[in-house]
Amino acid sequence: MRKTFTLWAVIGSMFTGAAIAQTPARPKCATDEVEARLLQADPGYQARRQENEAAIARFLANPANKRQMQATKTIPVVFHVVYKTAAENISDAQILSQLEVLNRDFRRFNADTTNTPQAFRSVSADTGIEFCLASVDPNGAPTTGITRTLTTANSFTTNDDMKAAATGGIAAWPRDQYLNIWVCNLSGTTLGYAYKPGAPANIDGVVLRYTTVGAAPANPFPAPYNAGRTATHEVGHWLNLSHIWGQAPGCTDDDLVADTPQQVEENWGCPTYPVTTGTGGLCTAAPTGSMFMNYMDYVDDNCMNLFTQGQGSRMNAAISTSRASLLASTACQNTLMANFLASSTSIQVGTSINFTDLSTGGATAWSWSFPGGTPATSTVQNPGNIVYNTVGVYPVTLTVTKGGVSNTRTIPNYITVNPSSTCAPPAVSFTQTSTSVCQGDTITYNSSATTGATTFQWTFTGGTPATSTAANPTVIYNTPGTHNVTLKATSGCGTPATLNKAVTITAMPTVSVTPTISSRCTPGPVTLTASGATSYSWSPATGLNTTTGSTVTANPSVSTNYTVIGTTNGCASDPVIIPVNVTVVQANFTANPAVVNLPASNGLVTFTNTSSSNALFHNWNFGDPQSGQTNNTSTLKNPTHTYTQAGSYTVTLIATSNSVTGNCSNTKTFVIQVNTVSGLQKAFDAGNIKIYPNPAKDYLRVEVPETEKVTEVQLINTIGQVVARQKPAAGQVRLTLNQAAGGIYFVKIINAEGSITRKVSVIP
Ligand SMILES: [Zn+2]
Repeated sequence: MRKTFTLWAVIGSMFTGAAIAQTPARPKCATDEVEARLLQADPGYQARRQENEAAIARFLANPANKRQMQATKTIPVVFHVVYKTAAENISDAQILSQLEVLNRDFRRFNADTTNTPQAFRSVSADTGIEFCLASVDPNGAPTTGITRTLTTANSFTTNDDMKAAATGGIAAWPRDQYLNIWVCNLSGTTLGYAYKPGAPANIDGVVLRYTTVGAAPANPFPAPYNAGRTATHEVGHWLNLSHIWGQAPGCTDDDLVADTPQQVEENWGCPTYPVTTGTGGLCTAAPTGSMFMNYMDYVDDNCMNLFTQGQGSRMNAAISTSRASLLASTACQNTLMANFLASSTSIQVGTSINFTDLSTGGATAWSWSFPGGTPATSTVQNPGNIVYNTVGVYPVTLTVTKGGVSNTRTIPNYITVNPSSTCAPPAVSFTQTSTSVCQGDTITYNSSATTGATTFQWTFTGGTPATSTAANPTVIYNTPGTHNVTLKATSGCGTPATLNKAVTITAMPTVSVTPTISSRCTPGPVTLTASGATSYSWSPATGLNTTTGSTVTANPSVSTNYTVIGTTNGCASDPVIIPVNVTVVQANFTANPAVVNLPASNGLVTFTNTSSSNALFHNWNFGDPQSGQTNNTSTLKNPTHTYTQAGSYTVTLIATSNSVTGNCSNTKTFVIQVNTVSGLQKAFDAGNIKIYPNPAKDYLRVEVPETEKVTEVQLINTIGQVVARQKPAAGQVRLTLNQAAGGIYFVKIINAEGSITRKVSVIP
């Protein structure tokens, strides 16, 4: 059953109140408990979870992604063993056993699939998700994928103390490259817990009680939680699965998965099928009962045996969205992992199969086992012509070895041998343009070598299109991993035959750069740091100290968009563009007039903005607060202002670039001088005061309007001595110059308001 969304309010409250439904004595998973705590402690967590859910919903809504889960994808894992006692310091073998359990359960290679009730087998899933023990540590050095930390803590609670050295544990390795699994002595009844996508990086991962890790005999601890399925359950949470009943009991919530019937609450022990009533039963009655044997219930390890298709889709969507960086991780590039492909998995009795080694990590020896086949074993890398002479269903096992290390993969029920037919099957053969390409690349297939076929049916796991009936189709691969290509051809009489081949799609790294943009108002160096790939190429070279490496220093003189492309395992990322903006703003202006003479002028000053062209915003202050706030400021580019009082006015222009380039500003000031002019000056300016002749010889005549009430006119020499003076009569003054030596003189016209002075020349 599916609901629209998880009830955040419900889970936020259910662990803070007293009404905890679980029986305290029963071992439990603390994932809901730590998530409820995180919802209260981390204000951003709920939004991140909802973003992740939305991304998953978008991913699953795209039909092209439906086949994602059929592609094999591998998640690097590091185990952090935090121990005080020898028993807590579990063996490498126990951890390797846990890896095998995870890989069997997530691929549905587990031996107990036969315990899955018939009613649920059609929805049981091979999720395509695999796990590898990291062989490269965060510094690029070799690692066993296991860290061991001696602690003084007798036990740990769910407060994440095991995830920091300061609290007796060890810090997480980068969660974008590794699944961190801490193994320690969890106190109380807690078997393990995990954080779903969206948790802070320092606590993201899975925690397991040391007794639950791996399966017997590598796990020496008592049943019923000694088969490694606590990890299967918790990694399910880490990939965004909820418990079958959701995060609140009593049919008030569900797990957002359509093919897990909604049930009331958890099951314990190993119930007898079917469970139709009670707290472990269904919310809506059905004869099949609840799916208590799902890995996301609470039953004993040996009682659980399936994920569903819907759960597989959700986990694959999480890997392709919020945890996508793991697909490009190189942490397992040296890890030995057995893998193989049969040329056909369904044949007629008496015919043969070829096997292709797909192991990774540089195996040097191969040991094959073909129950039901002849020969039944092989030590060559790619054994061919294994004949199956008995109708039945058979497993295949490959063990690969490098140095003293080995790794084994068994695929149960892999080969189906059918009764013979009198109708001859076609001889299927095809070629492909490549067997290994980068994410986003295409491969073209050619079936022209097939004989005896009348129809073709291609299947491309992880490819688009996912199927084709064309003879020579072209497929684009957007999903990293190892994918099967199957061509099923049918003869004219109706007998089919199939041929499988493998293609490996290498993940395109996702590069991020810090900072994503740099804006500065003066040129200067900025450090750009890229992550997400193993090598980088930067361009343009102008302004960069180097064009390779994860860290470069950019110091461009002008704004430059730098581009970086990262490469991992030969596959290049999409380009990432980092704008480095250098915005030098220069404020400047002219004023006309710069000197204002009142009242001859009306006081209007026109300002012409000559700032640099990148200045888009102009803030003026005319230094004239008496004119009022509105009049004293302006945001126009070329404003005017009217001055009405004498004085010195400091005009300020702040020129600013736009906000995209960082609001760079520059300030320019200029002083406007405003003079108040006397009536004498005004009369002189108007031509109503006359001084003549100039140069003068015998006399100098001055005419002034009687309205100016001039009291005296003086003639002053260059050293300030008054050499002649006279009061005007009827607006006229006549100064006799007989006694004056030749040279420069000043005529000073005086009234009660003040005076004006004008220069004249006297000829001897
Ligand atoms: Zn759980």
